[in-house]
Amino acid sequence: MIRQMYDIVIIGAGPAGLSAAIYARRASKSVLVLEANTYGGQIVNTPDIENYPVEEHISGFEFATKLYTQATNLGAQVKFERATAIDESGENKVVQTAKNTYEAKAVIIATGAQNRKLGVAREEDMVGKGISYCATCDGAFYRKKAVAVVGGGNTAIEDAEYLADIADKVYLIHRRDAFRADSASVEKLQKKENVEFVLNSTVSALVIENKVVGIEVSDQEGNTTVLDVDCLFVAVGRIPENESFADVICLDAQGYADAGEDCTTGKAGIFVAGDNRAKDVRQLVTATADGAVAATNAVKYINSL
Ligand code: NAP
Repeated sequence: MIRQMYDIVIIGAGPAGLSAAIYARRASKSVLVLEANTYGGQIVNTPDIENYPVEEHISGFEFATKLYTQATNLGAQVKFERATAIDESGENKVVQTAKNTYEAKAVIIATGAQNRKLGVAREEDMVGKGISYCATCDGAFYRKKAVAVVGGGNTAIEDAEYLADIADKVYLIHRRDAFRADSASVEKLQKKENVEFVLNSTVSALVIENKVVGIEVSDQEGNTTVLDVDCLFVAVGRIPENESFADVICLDAQGYADAGEDCTTGKAGIFVAGDNRAKDVRQLVTATADGAVAATNAVKYINSL
C-alpha cells in the first residue's frame, strides 16, 4: 500500500483523460492517470476513424497509442489500477484504488460510458466485422449495402436516418411499437423510402460467415425471419461509468455526471470530462475537447488555492 501526492489525479485513460493529462502536464502540474483496463477506452474498438480532424484514416488502437505516448512523454504517470472511491472531505482529494491511496489537489473523472450490449450470441466477437455501436464512425463502410439498426431511442432513430442516406436499405428493429425517441424524429424516419420498420421484434441471432451476413429476427409470436444485412448497428443505450463516484458528484436520471461545458461539478476541485458527462454530442473530438477544458479549469483551480 502506497500513498502518493499529485497535483491532479485523472481517472480514466481514454481520449478525455489522456487529453486532460497533456494539458495538465503542459501547465507543469504533476499528473497521475488511473486506468482500470487498457488505455484508449472505447475508441480502441473502432477499426478506422475518419472523422477526427487532420487524421483522414487512423485505427482506434493507433490513435489511442499515439495519445498515450504523447501524454507519457510529457511526464504524465499512468497506473493500471481501478479507482474505487473519492474522498473530498479533507484539504486534498483522496482517490482510493484496490491497492493504493493517492492524494491530489484536483481530480478529473474521465471514466467514459460503455455501450449497452444487445446480448446476442457472438456479438462481441463480431465488433468491426458487422457489429457496430457507432453509425457516425462506421456508417460510411456500408455505402450502398443493407444494414439494420436495433433500438427505439433517439440514438437508434438518428442512426437509422444517418444510415438511410448512405446505405441502400436500412431495417429499424425495435422490441416494442412505441418509441422513446421524439415523435418528430420517428415521423421523419418513416418518410424515408429505404427504411423498413420491424417492430415488436428482437434480434435473436447473428448469421455469420467470417463476418455478419444477416440477422435472425423474432416477433412476439416466436416467428423468425432472416434479414440479409452487412452490419447491425446496436443503439440500445449507454451505461456511464460513474457509479463509484455517485456520492461525490450529482448524476442525472441516466447516470451521467451533471457537469456543464466547463466540466465543473459544483464540488470544488472535482471535474468531469468525456462521455460520462451529460451532453448532447458524444464523439471522439468532444471527448478530447472536454479533456482540454477540464484540465485548464483544474489548473486554474489549483493556481487559485
Ligand atoms: P435510450 O433512450 O435509453 O433508448 C434505448 C433503446 O434501446 C430503447 O428503445 C430500449 O427499448 C432499447 N433497448 C434497451 N435494451 C435493449 C435490448 N436488450 N434489446 C432491445 N432493445 C433494447 O438510449 P439512447 O437512444 O442511446 O439515448 C440516450 C439518451 O440520449 C436519451 O435521453 C436520448 O433522448 C438522448 N439522445 C438525444 C439525442 C438528441 O436529442 N438529438 C440524440 C441521441 C440521444 P425500450 O424503449 O423498450 O426500453
